Amino acid sequence: MKPLAQEDRPTLVQLRSQLMSRYEEYCALNLSLDMTRGKPCAKQLEIAKNLHGLVDGENCFSENKTDCRNYGVPTGIDECKRLFSMITGIDASLIVLGNNASLSIMYDTLMRAMVFGEIDSDRPWANETVRKWLCPVPGYDRHFAITEALGFEMIPVAMTPNGPDMDRIEALVSSDPSIKGMWCVPQYSNPDGFIYADEVCIRMASMKTAAKDFRVFWDNAYAIHDLYPERKRRIPNILELSLKAGNPNRFYVYASTSKITLAGSGIACIAANTDNINRIKKQLSLRTIGPEKLNQLRHARYIPDMETLVGIMEKHAEIIRPKFEAVDTILREELDGLDIASWYKPDGGYFISLFLMKGTAGKVVEAAQKAGVLLTPAGATYPYGKDPDDSNIRIAPTLPSLPDIEVATRVLGICAKLVAVEQLLNEH
Ligand code: PLP
Repeated sequence: MKPLAQEDRPTLVQLRSQLMSRYEEYCALNLSLDMTRGKPCAKQLEIAKNLHGLVDGENCFSENKTDCRNYGVPTGIDECKRLFSMITGIDASLIVLGNNASLSIMYDTLMRAMVFGEIDSDRPWANETVRKWLCPVPGYDRHFAITEALGFEMIPVAMTPNGPDMDRIEALVSSDPSIKGMWCVPQYSNPDGFIYADEVCIRMASMKTAAKDFRVFWDNAYAIHDLYPERKRRIPNILELSLKAGNPNRFYVYASTSKITLAGSGIACIAANTDNINRIKKQLSLRTIGPEKLNQLRHARYIPDMETLVGIMEKHAEIIRPKFEAVDTILREELDGLDIASWYKPDGGYFISLFLMKGTAGKVVEAAQKAGVLLTPAGATYPYGKDPDDSNIRIAPTLPSLPDIEVATRVLGICAKLVAVEQLLNEH
């Protein structure tokens, strides 16, 4: 195949009619397939089927004899903190456990900054007339929704396979004190699946910021979610890096077991340096008399050591790896050599990020939907839902079955070509 843009008009017209008949064949199947959200599939949830039996009416005391049925222990029980230390690589003493969702802890962190400011703030962030936030793009739509709702002006920063464009970030944060922070998904970024290089982490920890209360929300949601465990890599301990660089307050680290045990019924955490953690503890003591500790106990018993944790993640990988590979194979079959699409085949995480010919992503999502294949709306991976190139589509392969993934990706490939051919014909 040669690049589509180099084909002459008669070839494009012929190609369009071939693609149209393939597209119509799929439309006739009355498909109803959903590749919109990064949810685990039922088989993944079944891995944790024994989780609930581990705590019963009598067996509900933590290792230091705390009755987990009762109030108290606001920062969480020790054995569950150790579990999160295994997940994040961060010392258990710097971890505060929450309930079921890291996203709520991120939301709370920002709300606290809005109302009270940070340790090193002159005033609550809500009192800043202008507040800005850096958003590596493409990125996670729910992150962007939070900063949008709280009135941050979001500044997109391009992602690279090594992490966000650090030259641009350093230039921005060093000159603009209204830039208060930044979203990061450093390991298997959502949606590209990139891992931040050590050099990027070091620069982020040590860069000069005009705002003395600049914060990085280091959302390590996919810290150990390797598709190919044999070639796993890990990011450095960002709290150690920032301490060493003289910016100890800069990072808030987040993680959860949503994609280790049960999505929505797991445990989440925040980790930070001692001063930030002490401040969080103080504020937490007003917010709750204690978190849901029975689930913490369940999780700590279910995953008592690294070997168990690794074994669970390998089971997840076995279930979802074929789905990621099917997406990659079919996209290659349909799109290779045409120069209208690019994507990175990730080693972990929950997504594949597909870049199509500029100006076509929205139409491709629409065409796929008409054929019964639901994709994340084009633009969702950008602040305000606006992809300036209209080119990125996030593919979430985990939830549907393998045969469904195969059909849905085939439809996506056909739609991508069809819309590209139509665009080229219009330009001719
Ligand atoms: N962070 C990222 C980057 C995600 O992709 C997701 C879910 O898709 C979450 C956070 C949500 O995590 P939780 O279930 O802990 O709220």
